[in-house]
This record gives sequence, C-alpha cells and structure tokens, in this order.
Amino acid sequence: MNRRRRLYEGKAKILYEGPEPGTLIQHFKDDATAFNARKHDCIEGKGVLNNRISEHIFERLAAVGIPTHFIKRMNMREQLIKEVEIVPIEVVVRNIAAGSLVKKLGLEEGMQLPRSIIEFYYKSDELDDPMVSEEHITAFGWASPQEIDEMMSLALRINDFLSGLFYGIGIRLVDFKIEFGRLFENEAMRIVLADEISPDCCRLWDVETDDKLDKDRFRQDLGGLIDAYQEVAKRLGILMENPQNEPSGPRLVTSRE
Ligand code: UDP
Repeated sequence: MNRRRRLYEGKAKILYEGPEPGTLIQHFKDDATAFNARKHDCIEGKGVLNNRISEHIFERLAAVGIPTHFIKRMNMREQLIKEVEIVPIEVVVRNIAAGSLVKKLGLEEGMQLPRSIIEFYYKSDELDDPMVSEEHITAFGWASPQEIDEMMSLALRINDFLSGLFYGIGIRLVDFKIEFGRLFENEAMRIVLADEISPDCCRLWDVETDDKLDKDRFRQDLGGLIDAYQEVAKRLGILMENPQNEPSGPRLVTSRE
C-alpha cells in the first residue's frame, strides 16, 4: 500500500522518505513492546491515538517556544516531520518515583522526588539502553557539553509545561522519556525535540485515583490500554465523546485546521 521509501522501522514507528528534501513521514504502528521488545503485542488503535496525542503535545510545546521536528499531521497514523540527526541518548525526566528508579534505589513507588531528576540512557537495543552519565556522553562523542546543556534545559522546560498541562486535566506527570535531534538549517545546527510524546513514553497517573493511564497498563498486564489512552486524549480535548449521529463510543476529532 505504501509506495514511499521506508528508511527505518522501529518498535512502534516507521520512518518514510518525505515529500520534500529535509522532511520525513513518521508512521505510528499499533505495536506495543516492553522490556526491550521481549514482550510484544499489537493493540488496535494505539498508533492512531499516539499520533493524535503527540501532535497535540508537540503543537502546545511549539506554542511556548520549544523547537521541535513536527510540521503537521497528515492522516490518522502519520505526521510530516523535519529530518534530524537523532542524538543517541534517551533523556528521562522524573518527578515521582516509579519504574526502574524504584527498583534501583529501593524507593517507595509514588514518592514525590526532592526535585525533578534528569537521567540519560544510551540508545542501544543490543545493550538494553544502559544508563550513562555526561562523562560517557562527552567521552564517546554522542553529544557535546553544549548539546547536553541544551537538552537538559529543554527537558526541564518541557517538564514544567507538561506537568502543568496534565495537572490541569487531573493527571500527574510522573516521568517521561524524550529524544532530541540535530536540525541542520542554513549552515546552522540546533537541537530540537524529536520522536514522540505519548502515553507510550510517559507515566501518567490520575490525580484522584492514581489509576495508570499509560503503557504500564501493558507492561504490568493491567488491561484497558486503549481506554486509558482514549481517556488521556479525551481530557486533552482531542476526542469527542458520543458525537451526534454516532451510535456509541468515543471518536477521534479528524481535523483542527
Ligand atoms: N521510557 C521509554 N522508553 C524506554 C524506557 C523508558 O519511553 O525505552 C519511559 C517510560 O515510559 C517512563 C520513563 O521513560 O515514562 C522512565 O522509565 P524507567 O526508567 O522507569 O523504565 P521502565 O520502568 O519503563 O523500564
């Protein structure tokens, strides 16, 4: 069905050549993976929801001055993005103890951290994305000290903005993972937010009930992943509930243009 050249296929997304030089198409699949793909499933509708949620978040972030790779959503599963050189580092920001931090430091899940904590992981499937320090990153040339400063400063701005955005809709932003890319424009290079921000890469807990509205539903076999992602989309205002003339169930709002 797709006649475009496929450049890269990851666990949850495919990248295709874009219509213009310097652009790519990012396609969101329904695949869900965890524990470095040792657990894998296909969850119908996940890609459509993540495409829409990530679009919304990237647009909101751009509106407050965060540079991103996002250009526009093209259809239910695809968005047009600027081609960037991905920095091979996953940047994790944590506000509340959960996941690997709880295991590593023996903390109680749900504990408010003394302050937001930034961690770096080297992107390598073979090595299971090991945690690395700034020393490793600069010594091995994965990013320069200036790039690390820029990524940390953007990560904290993104955390502040998204914590407020989610709190306003009754959701606690526990932690999240982001990726950055180098955008080459007019002989200059700058660091921009890339990849996606969706419930696949965030921990989102309901403020009232502590219900998990993120990929932990899949990791921990809790079920109801699509319902949870739909709930996030609904609260963000990008899903209409029982629109007129529709028999039942929530439906994606197709266009905001
Ligand atoms: N995360 C991610 N991709 C990864 C690893 C982590 O998106 O390959 C996200 C994860 O969803 C969570 C945050 O980064 O929101 C911190 O994850 P953690 O280090 O606790 O690892 P996990 O417990 O998810 O393995």
